Amino acid sequence: MLEAVIALGLLAALFGAVLGFASARLQPREESLVEQINERLPQTQCAQCGYPGCRPYAEAIAREETDINRCPPGGEHTVRALADLLDRDPRPLDPSCGSSTPGQVASIDESLCIGCARCLEACPVDAIVGAHQYMHTVIRDECTGCELCLEPCPVDCIDMVSNTLDPRTRLTDIARPITATESG
Ligand code: SF4
Ligand code: SF4
Repeated sequence: MLEAVIALGLLAALFGAVLGFASARLQPREESLVEQINERLPQTQCAQCGYPGCRPYAEAIAREETDINRCPPGGEHTVRALADLLDRDPRPLDPSCGSSTPGQVASIDESLCIGCARCLEACPVDAIVGAHQYMHTVIRDECTGCELCLEPCPVDCIDMVSNTLDPRTRLTDIARPITATESG
């Protein structure tokens, strides 16, 4: 009887060790896949994919719970990057998640802003600065164009504009000398 109990105990311990080892081996592989997927997402945290941010979407893709074509800000570029990584066929962006509008940023008409700070709370990447009852403005370089600030603005003073000011040309564009023809 005692031998049987000891044998059972040893078996249970062995079984537990195997399970522990297996999950220890699997965990990092799953974790690194999530990391690799997340690296390919635009980090707009805009939830247009139906998940509360880029990482939860990456985790769902890694668990094969959802498709790779649900990220409008990333657009076709992100679908292709994920298809390459996961050895899947690229698919057109899922229109139910919204349309891809690359190269746009939010712009606040500061003359209309009433300083209610609702946009500031809605922005997932802290691209809006301002204080209560003071004018708010968008930091272009931080804005991902996710449009989450549009809906909460009570005076509708936020527009999406094309991000024409490419950081590489900004300085040269502003600082370049005025040519003879321009100066008339
Ligand atoms: S400013 Fe608006 S559009 Fe830009 S990242 Fe924030 S919420 Fe999105
Ligand atoms: S939500 Fe609109 S009115 Fe309110 S602070 Fe932002 S831009 Fe200004």
